[in-house]
Amino acid sequence: MTSLWLDRATPIADDPLPGPEETLDVVVVGAGLTGLTTALLLARAGHRVAVVEARHVGAVTTGNTTAKLSLLQGTRLSRIRRHQSRKVAAAYVEANREGMAWLLRFCDDHGVPVQRRRAVTYAATESELSSVEQEHQAASSLGLDVRWHDTLDVPFPNHGGTVLPDQAQFDPLDVLAALVEQLRAHGGTLHQGHRVVSASRSGEPVLTLEGGGSVRADQVVLATGVPILDRGLYFAKVEPQRSYALAFRGAEPPDGMFLSAGSDSRSVRDVPDPDGRYLLIGGSGHVVGRTGSTLEHYDRLRAWTSEHFPGAVETHHWSAQDYQGHDGIPYMGALPRGGGRMHLATGYEKWGMSNAVAAARTISAEILGEKPSWAQVLGRRITGPTGAAEIARINLGVGLAQAGGAVRAVRNRLPGGDDTLVRECGVVGVCTHLGGVLQWNDAEESWDCPLHGSRFTADGEVLEGPATRPLARRP
Ligand SMILES: Cc1cc2nc3c(=O)[nH]c(=O)nc-3n(C[C@H](O)[C@H](O)[C@H](O)COP(=O)(O)OP(=O)(O)OC[C@H]3O[C@@H](n4cnc5c(N)ncnc54)[C@H](O)[C@@H]3O)c2cc1C
Repeated sequence: MTSLWLDRATPIADDPLPGPEETLDVVVVGAGLTGLTTALLLARAGHRVAVVEARHVGAVTTGNTTAKLSLLQGTRLSRIRRHQSRKVAAAYVEANREGMAWLLRFCDDHGVPVQRRRAVTYAATESELSSVEQEHQAASSLGLDVRWHDTLDVPFPNHGGTVLPDQAQFDPLDVLAALVEQLRAHGGTLHQGHRVVSASRSGEPVLTLEGGGSVRADQVVLATGVPILDRGLYFAKVEPQRSYALAFRGAEPPDGMFLSAGSDSRSVRDVPDPDGRYLLIGGSGHVVGRTGSTLEHYDRLRAWTSEHFPGAVETHHWSAQDYQGHDGIPYMGALPRGGGRMHLATGYEKWGMSNAVAAARTISAEILGEKPSWAQVLGRRITGPTGAAEIARINLGVGLAQAGGAVRAVRNRLPGGDDTLVRECGVVGVCTHLGGVLQWNDAEESWDCPLHGSRFTADGEVLEGPATRPLARRP
């Protein structure tokens, strides 16, 4: 269950932790694309920056992404237009344009291989056609040079699509490794294997690390996927969406990066390699912890691939999650009740390659000085009735999952229920974030929380999500 990227990557070394008496300018929590880009921007501006990472560089979403860098993002722009004005949607495009340009320049400057590809949002069935047409119109009206195709020259079913030429793709671990190298060249440091479990509530932020150490800084950036501190209640404003990816040899990938428009989407790209190209297939998503067997999600993608790419031989499979907000626009900037010293970024909705850089720009500008105008527009946006309804829908889902959890807790005690497994694992199957009854994820062999997406290993260590404490052990 290791992604193609993590499998090919060289491990990255650590620096010694700063002493407890030292006050840094900035501590960035999380060594994914958001954290490392923010850290580099601040280090380049002369700040003393340390990145503290619970696991290792790229361990969570960035190391398990499909790494398409595109301004055409599935049906994202039409979704934003349903909730927000044209001005806000245009600011979102500008933020991503700047994020994309920065990343391409960075890759070019530091020898990170990038492949230019067309991006395609396509209708896999006739019923998806109207949402692809709406996306085409939204993208075109926001200034993207999209072209309509009635059919696509690909081996899988399609009913037309919108195409944006000259977008890009890469190996995300190549980018993270180059970011770490540049961070160090500008005096920053990286500390892996240190989970932050809490932050002081007032004055100069002091972060407590699992096991008892601490780090202090003038400013803290929470680049943890979903924020680990509950101030601002972001865990209740986003929905954790998990999806699946597989890499194959022995098939000829089509020319471009494809994403179908339906809820059970299919994502397709190629991955160049000295031994020939891989075909990468993704999709089959669901809300974390709210599905049956997760093995079935892989099987659905396997069946689809063998039907449309006969002869494809699987080499890797993996899954990951990202967070969906209420109006299609990420949350990025100062954390409420953080005294202006804490900053966060979340809600990229599986389009984090450009959004992570936009968030890094926003947060670093908040610390260093003037924010770009697009960040001001996004930061001042108002939640309208449709956005409020979306937040209500997210929380209704949590409520239903909570009620379902109570029923499951009873059923689990019956022979063959998850309780037998929980007992075998020696843990209490209750999430340490807000008490959700955990669901067993058979594909990843993890405990997943259906409320806000926290995940734990079989023996209870935190993997990801808002939880910071391991599962309680059974006596
Ligand atoms: C299946 C899938 C496919 C995707 N494909 C694309 C794509 O093609 N194009 C695109 O643009 N986007 C894509 N995305 C989205 C994109 O990958 C993410 O939005 C992006 O990688 C998020 O980066 P991040 O740095 O914010 O989070 P992460 O990469 O998750 O980094 C957060 C880090 O914080 C660390 N952390 C968490 N809690 C703590 C703590 N308490 N203490 C210390 N460290 C902590 C974690 O260990 C982790 O390393 C995809 C997402 C998924 C799930």
